[in-house]
Amino acid sequence: MHTLSLHDIKCGLLNKKFSSVEITKRFLGRIEKYKHWNAFITVCEELALQSAQQSDQRISNGTARELEGIPIALKDLFLTKGIKTTAGSKMLYNFVPPYESTVSQKLLDAGVVLLGKTNMDEFAMGSSNLTSYYGPVVNPWSRDKKLVPGGSSGGSAAAVAGYLCAAATGSDTGGSVRQPAAFSGIVGLKPTYGRCSRYGMVAFASSLDQAGSLTATVRDAAIFLSVISGYDEKDSTSENRAVPDFKSFAGKSIKGLKIGIPREYAVEGMSDDIIDFWKKGGKILEEAGAEVMEVSLPYSKYALPAYYIVAPAEASANLARYDGIRYGFRAEGKSLKEMYENTRTEGFADEVKRRILIGTYVLSAGYYDAYYLRALKIRELIRQDFSSVFQKVDLLLTPTTPTSAFAFGEEPKDPVTMYLNDVLTVTANMAGLPGISVPIGLDKLGRPLGLQLIAPHFMEELLVQVGSVLEKEANFPTLGEAM
Ligand code: GLN
Repeated sequence: MHTLSLHDIKCGLLNKKFSSVEITKRFLGRIEKYKHWNAFITVCEELALQSAQQSDQRISNGTARELEGIPIALKDLFLTKGIKTTAGSKMLYNFVPPYESTVSQKLLDAGVVLLGKTNMDEFAMGSSNLTSYYGPVVNPWSRDKKLVPGGSSGGSAAAVAGYLCAAATGSDTGGSVRQPAAFSGIVGLKPTYGRCSRYGMVAFASSLDQAGSLTATVRDAAIFLSVISGYDEKDSTSENRAVPDFKSFAGKSIKGLKIGIPREYAVEGMSDDIIDFWKKGGKILEEAGAEVMEVSLPYSKYALPAYYIVAPAEASANLARYDGIRYGFRAEGKSLKEMYENTRTEGFADEVKRRILIGTYVLSAGYYDAYYLRALKIRELIRQDFSSVFQKVDLLLTPTTPTSAFAFGEEPKDPVTMYLNDVLTVTANMAGLPGISVPIGLDKLGRPLGLQLIAPHFMEELLVQVGSVLEKEANFPTLGEAM
């Protein structure tokens, strides 16, 4: 368990155990000390200290807001006005946004201290943080071998796991909040599609992207979610509905809840450790009074292939805007066309190019029906699978990933094997459902593993309620030194 949660820091600040300036300096000191983890692309030291000072004033004059003076980090794809935002790409190496994303604005309005912008896979495409133009991130759980933190929100996960900030934002298109949370021994919550505004988030695949959080505890995830949620007229896909006080569901009894164990999630290549922990998770929930039963989601096996058509298709359209004229990087060329070609050749690395190629191919006239349209049909069947299973159970329990974090140099060498990391998480994105990853234990190699809960649309409170039971009984170990 994290030694200093967002909730603890909030209490400490309000009870004057420490000031925001003190705690901000402590985090900045650790960011410097653990620079070699490479968790941050940009550190906003001066700005952080200034806003910590202002927070201390507000705390002392009784005008503290919800997250007053709490130091957090933002994944480097949330646009921050006046602060460089790279999305992990050379293409945006010098891009300073002229406006603020809604999610980061909500956090700033709640009084957070922004420590900086975290490293990530280029344009959020990846599961290891190895595709970042700014270099890989080291998982703070590394021992004899350097481990990846997962991705694409790898910098945020490492920063929270290694006590470099109290909490951080992530984004989840196919698992990028939940998978790095599982690999790094922390909590990752992906809300329902439409719960949070996507305004000002660098787009990857717009029908799948959703902001989320990397936090030390389930209650922290709930606190964070209440702040970043809500309708935004600037995002037509954000939903206009009330935001519950999610944290009030942490620790609530789960007696009588029905939990489904989808049989199709026992995928090939899953480690014995994760299978054992999955069983243990079911037992924990049963002992807490829930009814646990096996269910079936027959179309799950098509989710990953369909995701890797839908996501690249949308990415190829979204990334068309990087032409060397409007944003960031520009390469020279003798003609306009050559400038475009050189800019996109040099500005994007291999994984992004691969997605653009796949996406353009599946959307092209001859192949649209064969690939893209079929993937959309599968997506609908996956949605129906979930709707019918949620007639029988309240939520689902699955592992977050088939295995634990891999070591540098031992990562899958072919892209398709790397994509298999997302096999258990993409289904929730395809159906727009909320999911959470909760740390459950360490495998034989001493590497963190997580269990995933998936709830019906806009039922994040169930994730908090059941997630906090899992968290409590899992008794996940504290990482090394304390703060
Ligand atoms: N790893 C997945 C991918 O590369 C998911 C990424 C994400 O959720 N942003 O597409």
